[in-house]
Amino acid sequence: MSINFKELANKYGTPYYVYDFDYITNQYNELKTAFKARKSLIAYAVKANSNLSVIKHLANLGAGADCVSIGEVKRALKVGIEPYKIIFSGVGKTDDEIRQALEFGILMINVESAAELDRVEVIAKELGKVARISIRINPNIDPKTHPYISTGLHENKFGVDIDTAKRMYIQCKNSDNLEPTGIHCHIGSQLTQLQPIKESVQIIADLVRNLAAIKIELSFIDIGGGLGIIYDDEKLIDTNEYAQTVLETMFGLDITVVCEPGKFIVGNSGTFITKVLYEKVNGEKRFVIVDGAMNDLIRPSLYNAYHKSEVLNDNKEFSACNLVGPVCESGDFFAKNVQLPKTQHNDLVAIYSAGAYGFSMSSNYNTRGRVAEIAVENGEDRLIRKRETFEDLITLEEEFIK
Ligand SMILES: *Cc1c(COP(=O)(O)O)cnc(C)c1O
Repeated sequence: MSINFKELANKYGTPYYVYDFDYITNQYNELKTAFKARKSLIAYAVKANSNLSVIKHLANLGAGADCVSIGEVKRALKVGIEPYKIIFSGVGKTDDEIRQALEFGILMINVESAAELDRVEVIAKELGKVARISIRINPNIDPKTHPYISTGLHENKFGVDIDTAKRMYIQCKNSDNLEPTGIHCHIGSQLTQLQPIKESVQIIADLVRNLAAIKIELSFIDIGGGLGIIYDDEKLIDTNEYAQTVLETMFGLDITVVCEPGKFIVGNSGTFITKVLYEKVNGEKRFVIVDGAMNDLIRPSLYNAYHKSEVLNDNKEFSACNLVGPVCESGDFFAKNVQLPKTQHNDLVAIYSAGAYGFSMSSNYNTRGRVAEIAVENGEDRLIRKRETFEDLITLEEEFIK
């Protein structure tokens, strides 16, 4: 990746996110190709990075969308993803979201509880529609990742157990307004081991075969997302081995495989660029204070996640420091006890692997406008989201004075 961060800083100011769209293309193609032995749908997990240009870029490559709110469904539709490539997941869909999803005619709703299935049935009946249903199985498998991004254990809120799922599929089969269409599992994020994925897909593939024996024929097996990326020195799952392993579990099934990668597609495409404001020493502790903060990139604060950081100067004098932002929280840091060179006012700092769950998790805390987002493709840069102004931040507020 040869992006000139300094030039972009001069042109657009700091902080900013920049995404390498050529990298995104390669990641998508690599995964799609790995599954070429079967019909497949790569449904990009929009929540990882929901910028319209990012989704549009993936839409042009043929991707579908995995959405967790009706807002994300609307983003996908807006950039031209066909409804038959859109999936709607999430443990708490509202009546209104279910209604809209049915009206849009999306591929399937990933149902996560028996109570939700009842709601979908009632709403589909009111609308005179048939809802295509996929059920999210909680396979009770430990994904061996950070507990906050683990989703496939019974102690997590996601999905239903196998017996409940069976009853739900039978309810679908017996209903005029429900059509059993798919099955789903997603055990967590930043997965670097193949074994837990293999075990969970085996569980759902077995269930698909059991259901076929009672004449419930599913068309889609959705293996979720979660493929890990490089933050530090992780050893990643090989994409071809992943596809191979997953496809082997599907013997005897004429079924389309759906994969929902978020981080894998965009994570390593993105860099967060921030600028040094000050250095200071409190007692023994050295702090490098930058203009970006936890409201821009919350993963270090939220998950204690590691992001590699680098000061873009030529100084060779390194020492340990905490890299922190201006927000009024002790939790506002990008890195603790990292070796960084001596800095000067206006030096740039690159924080890598920031393309996923970076901007999309950002907020306006401390009345900080969200930062600019830039795409680079074929050596050309373009602004894909303007930096927010003070006016943008207050536009929905009223000065309610009696
Ligand atoms: C978040 C999510 C994904 C994507 O996870 P990544 O770790 O970004 O690949 C896929 N499927 C579902 C249901 C999700 O909630």
